[in-house]
Amino acid sequence: MPQEQTATAEPAVLPGIVRLRFVDERNFAVSAYLLTGDDGCVLVDSGFAGEAAAAALEAQLRSVGRTLGDISTIVLTHLHHDHVGQALRLAERGVTIRYHPAEPSLIAYPFEERLAGLRELLRAHGTPEDDLPDRPYEPELRLDDPIEDGSVLDLAGQRWLAIQTPGHTIGHLCLFRPDDGALIVGDHLLASISTYVGADSAAGPDIVHRFLDSLDRLDTLSATTVLPAHGRVYHDLRGRTAAQRADYAARLDAVAALLDSTPRSAYAVAHALRERRGKSWEIGAFRRALLARHAAALLDELARVGRAERIDAPGAIRYRARSRSDATGSAAMSRSTVPPSGNASTARMSASGVRQAGSPAKLQQ
Ligand SMILES: [Zn+2]
Repeated sequence: MPQEQTATAEPAVLPGIVRLRFVDERNFAVSAYLLTGDDGCVLVDSGFAGEAAAAALEAQLRSVGRTLGDISTIVLTHLHHDHVGQALRLAERGVTIRYHPAEPSLIAYPFEERLAGLRELLRAHGTPEDDLPDRPYEPELRLDDPIEDGSVLDLAGQRWLAIQTPGHTIGHLCLFRPDDGALIVGDHLLASISTYVGADSAAGPDIVHRFLDSLDRLDTLSATTVLPAHGRVYHDLRGRTAAQRADYAARLDAVAALLDSTPRSAYAVAHALRERRGKSWEIGAFRRALLARHAAALLDELARVGRAERIDAPGAIRYRARSRSDATGSAAMSRSTVPPSGNASTARMSASGVRQAGSPAKLQQ
């Protein structure tokens, strides 16, 4: 479905919250949320960039009796292109742009520095020159008013709590409305697709650990309706966090199972994982680099919990299974307990502190 057909916003999913939908030419869909109030609106995420998405935004605003001029503020859950898109244009109209200051924006990191950091990281993880990115993942967008973790925000006259949920990106934000349990989760926890977490030069090597911690944090909220950026609105927050943890446990097991005494790069591990699943590696440089970053994040987590050894040489990071002598304790603890079929309800805590479960689900990128 081309973007211009998304002309009608869904009726309010909850009082004061309208879901806006954007679909690109590859049929990839992203949602943004319009918070409506008597004195104007706040947009949380802003769809794709470009003319077609601009027309889709205006048409959907019209369908709920609003215009672009009603939007005073844009809050971004994170700075990926499918969230920042229309904010680039609205920023020129004087709309206030807000996001978490830890996001690797081109304000925090100038373009060349951000690009060099990503290329250096990917190169160290064994990525060939042809697969290195030629631009940062984030577009250039100013930050007018940072949102810190734990801030209580007045957005369109509604009270929201900002929660930093590192993982998908280091400064990713979720927004919680305590009055009725609405929870906007961006890309942190989607309805059915697994969240992408990848190594990033702007984050530490504990990004998977921080992602799993961020899921635990959401579990403490009394959320009733979860509003993700991709896929359907859902209600069973804790069922979904459990399934997501189980999926990452299965991913960690799958990577651990590939390691032996030969040091390998994250890029080589990512390639081997694809081969093991009978999938092609001819998926383009961009996706190969994404999968290398994902493998690096998983390998770093295995190293962190003592299930793998990370070998750091100048400009080259390699991983191998821990040798028998130093893994006596942890190998027994971390032995894979993957059941033949994936079922989140069977997820359980292993001795290494990682919940175990079935085969990894499709990954959101
Ligand atoms: Zn994203």
